[in-house]
Amino acid sequence: MPLNLSWRPNMRFYSTSLQGSKLFSVKDLTTHDMLLQSRFIYQPAAGIVHWLPLGLRTYKKLQNVIRKRMDQAGGLEMELSSLSSKHLWERTKRWDNNELFKFKDSKDRDYCLVPTCEEEITNLVGDLCSSYKDLPLLVYQISRKYRDELRPRGGLLRGREFLMKDAYSFDLTKEDGLKSYDNVNEAYRRIFQDLKLPVTVANADSGSIGGDLSLEYHLIHESGEDILFRCNSCQTVSNVEKCQSLPDKQFKGVQEAECQYFINKDRNTLIIMYYPKGRKLNPQYVKDEIPDIDFSIDEEMALTLFKNESEESSSFLVKEIIRVIDPRVTSNTNMPDLKVLYHRNSMFTFTDIPIVEAIAGERCYECEKGTLSEHTAIEVGHTFYLDKKYSSPLDCTVVNEQNEQTTVYMGCYGIGVSRLIAAIAQTSRDEVGLTWPQIIAPYQITLLSNKTSSKKNLDTVTEILSSFDVQVDNRDGKFSMGHKLKQSKVAGIPLQIIVGKHFPLIEIEVRTPIQHSQELKDLYKRKTWDWEIQESPQTAGCSEKHLVHLTGLAQVVDVLLECL
Ligand SMILES: [Zn+2]
Repeated sequence: MPLNLSWRPNMRFYSTSLQGSKLFSVKDLTTHDMLLQSRFIYQPAAGIVHWLPLGLRTYKKLQNVIRKRMDQAGGLEMELSSLSSKHLWERTKRWDNNELFKFKDSKDRDYCLVPTCEEEITNLVGDLCSSYKDLPLLVYQISRKYRDELRPRGGLLRGREFLMKDAYSFDLTKEDGLKSYDNVNEAYRRIFQDLKLPVTVANADSGSIGGDLSLEYHLIHESGEDILFRCNSCQTVSNVEKCQSLPDKQFKGVQEAECQYFINKDRNTLIIMYYPKGRKLNPQYVKDEIPDIDFSIDEEMALTLFKNESEESSSFLVKEIIRVIDPRVTSNTNMPDLKVLYHRNSMFTFTDIPIVEAIAGERCYECEKGTLSEHTAIEVGHTFYLDKKYSSPLDCTVVNEQNEQTTVYMGCYGIGVSRLIAAIAQTSRDEVGLTWPQIIAPYQITLLSNKTSSKKNLDTVTEILSSFDVQVDNRDGKFSMGHKLKQSKVAGIPLQIIVGKHFPLIEIEVRTPIQHSQELKDLYKRKTWDWEIQESPQTAGCSEKHLVHLTGLAQVVDVLLECL
């Protein structure tokens, strides 16, 4: 009895109702519109996304790539609730955040939809782990997160609901904590290698998450919202918030300076930062030299507090003034007048800390030799070494070998999964449509047959390709071959395989340019079947064509996919 192939589980069909029947011009579409039009996602309202069958396949495959490397790094997968109650967020002083999605239940208790899970996971680990014997611990989840985005835009790049892989490490000592941080960064390197993505790793400011060390993972692209600087000598890459720079060695100083006032936490030291007029001050650059500076107090309040304290105390000599003068401000520069009384003995000055954001062409502060170039990029991942930033306020402690309670050292690690899909779509699209790394393409292959080919021939090829991830477009009679090919290419399916009039020779169209691997070259040399390669055919969305006899089809497809 002949096999009824149409019910075999590896057979894939376009669902005509969700793939859409219209062909559209891709050239002027934004990537977001391309994802909508090719029916990867549906957007019922700004910032909200539904995943359609094609998009969901890519999303699940990407999850698996991430999951594999996180598991190898020793991560344990779990899944926390999307709901979190207010009291934990108050303990870490993060409840007063406009982007937190807050709501009340029927008993008037406050909750939020989680944007990240430091509070919940630290509380949970503090509760369940009591001894050093329970550490080290690395946990992760891949789940939906929420942000009350005021102006959601760019669809998946900045949505109100997004998919994120978040991981958290817990260690007994700082040394172990830093090892865990390195371990997860290595897992990230492998994830992006598996995806064959040219990711740039940048030193970053730890921002509102807080902590000591932080790395960002970026895809360089002109549409990106992040700014990175790269040094052409030491090759250091840093986010603009973390990139200090020096003026040219011959630079004589700017004409005009402006200044901004800050105060320390004890309210007895006024900090004045002088910087070139028109440049953007980054006061965070003095964090190491003046660790007790209070960034939450604005200039007016800082001056008021300082003056009040000065009048109340018996002598304002106990008050100090610290001046931080950017290296671009020199004796040639006009400085603004001081707004407070001061005594020379109580004034200290730093002149060697750059305190403005870098601009392209300036000198690298790290090596003091190289020149900085500027790049825009899309951030797709971020790792933080947190130290005790969350474990301390949330009392996450264990007993050590000496039986003493000790606060654990933490790290947290994120990859924006939905954001990464949008970033890959954006950075790899071409004039024909989307292109995906084959490991996350919705399907590896679209199999099509033209009118002259029999159903038997198509079934034979389907059987040969049964170990691959194939969709069979059998919408014969409804759509032309050209229409079906175009839809497959717009969706970014890596290989289009056509069963046609040359049977048993099968035509393969490769969607994007590839480098032939040694394996492919070797296979080509020792082939015992017909196999022709046509490089650069004049066909849209096709970098090369192969005409292969059935006998070698599976092997050729295998080596081709390895190249993608
Ligand atoms: Zn450098």
